[in-house]
Amino acid sequence: MRVGIIGAGIGGLTLAQALIAQNIEVIVFDRDLSAEETGGYRLHLSEDALASIREDLPENIEKLLKLSGTGPESFQQFSILNHHGKTKLSFRQTDEEDLLMIGRIPLRKILAIDLEKVIRWDTQFTHYKEEESGITLHFSNAQSEKVDILVGADGVHSAVAKQLLGRSTAKYAGVMGIAGRALLTPQLGSTINKDFFKGPGFAVGPKGIGMFITVHAPKTNNELIAGMDVLEDPYIVWSVAATDKTLRKSFRNLTSDQLEKEAYQLIRHWDESFLELINNSEKGRTAAFPFWYPSNLTRWKHSKITLIGDAIHPMPPTSGLGASTSILDAVNLAEKLVKHDDSSYALQAYQADMLKYAPKAVAEARPPLFWQRRFKNNFIRRFAMSVLLPCVSVVLKIKDSIKK
Ligand SMILES: Cc1cc2nc3c(=O)[nH]c(=O)nc-3n(C[C@H](O)[C@H](O)[C@H](O)COP(=O)(O)OP(=O)(O)OC[C@H]3O[C@@H](n4cnc5c(N)ncnc54)[C@H](O)[C@@H]3O)c2cc1C
Repeated sequence: MRVGIIGAGIGGLTLAQALIAQNIEVIVFDRDLSAEETGGYRLHLSEDALASIREDLPENIEKLLKLSGTGPESFQQFSILNHHGKTKLSFRQTDEEDLLMIGRIPLRKILAIDLEKVIRWDTQFTHYKEEESGITLHFSNAQSEKVDILVGADGVHSAVAKQLLGRSTAKYAGVMGIAGRALLTPQLGSTINKDFFKGPGFAVGPKGIGMFITVHAPKTNNELIAGMDVLEDPYIVWSVAATDKTLRKSFRNLTSDQLEKEAYQLIRHWDESFLELINNSEKGRTAAFPFWYPSNLTRWKHSKITLIGDAIHPMPPTSGLGASTSILDAVNLAEKLVKHDDSSYALQAYQADMLKYAPKAVAEARPPLFWQRRFKNNFIRRFAMSVLLPCVSVVLKIKDSIKK
């Protein structure tokens, strides 16, 4: 069996590693020039995603990932702040004993270890043709390749999904984010709210504008990864998100500098510490991210072609589960392909499982966007910031002390 994977992103690389570990032949195609050719912000990998990596991928991968990122100590709490920079509520968001915060570039580079011979970079998939003898993949460089099974791991707006299902699998959520990162200098570290050193936070301001902030400070002195060029200097990720009605224009074709200016404009009346993050952003790294939901996450039928990750269930970053769910898909699909000789059965079994956990991950991303819309109403936002969240904070503190 020869499996063709379109997309060497988080899901595609995980799938390639899991299949090769079981001696299944794999070939992966990606339009990027290399693994590091990707936007770089910090991602959260859940306990379940890490367990899947531990069980099904070569042993060294989990170890290298953990050395390149940070663990539960960097996610002790999640904070909600007002736009003056004051914490209104902090709570423990997850009971996970194991989790990983890792930059997207190190994650991708480590997942691509030992795959040099099976990944074809700089190769854009255009369409496929089904034949008796298999599936022929076509690329924009006029090359083609024959495989027995085709997996679309090509992210939001998947070309494989469009041909397979005859429609897009992504529906715009009506919210756009502008995200950037600023190096964590002692000066910048001294200006931000100290709660950000205990975990990520979300600041809420007028007009339903929100700003997500997280400090990413991996240890940088481990010999095992020293030569791999995966260590990142500590940085602060910021992401300003607003609903379409609040935005002055579409961000789609703006440069990094222009996006920084737009983000600054959106929060120009906020506390100086937020503005400083934007002012200190690394040049050329600020990008716009429309938020997506799956357009119709239901069963489909095909005995040789399937979809994993954002290609079938894109989700807003508000649950922090997009990358983790694509890893679960990849490992789940690999296990089914190994277990069942009949590929048709294997693909249906994968789908049945995926359709149980993926909608739950999508559902977890919805409440923050719901509240962001509600907070456009000034009365609701002020009431929440001055009465509701402080009350919840007191109740949580009492509960905590009773527990102790
Ligand atoms: C601002 C923001 C913050 C996020 N934060 C988190 C977080 O904290 N935690 C989390 O778990 N997730 C987060 N996510 C989501 C996460 O990045 C994605 O969900 C995850 O990368 C999905 O993996 P994937 O393999 O499905 O797709 P991707 O990783 O996007 O990979 C798709 C790959 O396909 C390639 N490709 C696309 N089309 C073609 C083609 N035609 N031919 C060849 N190659 C092609 C692309 O180059 C890409 O490499 C965030 C997303 C955003 C926007």
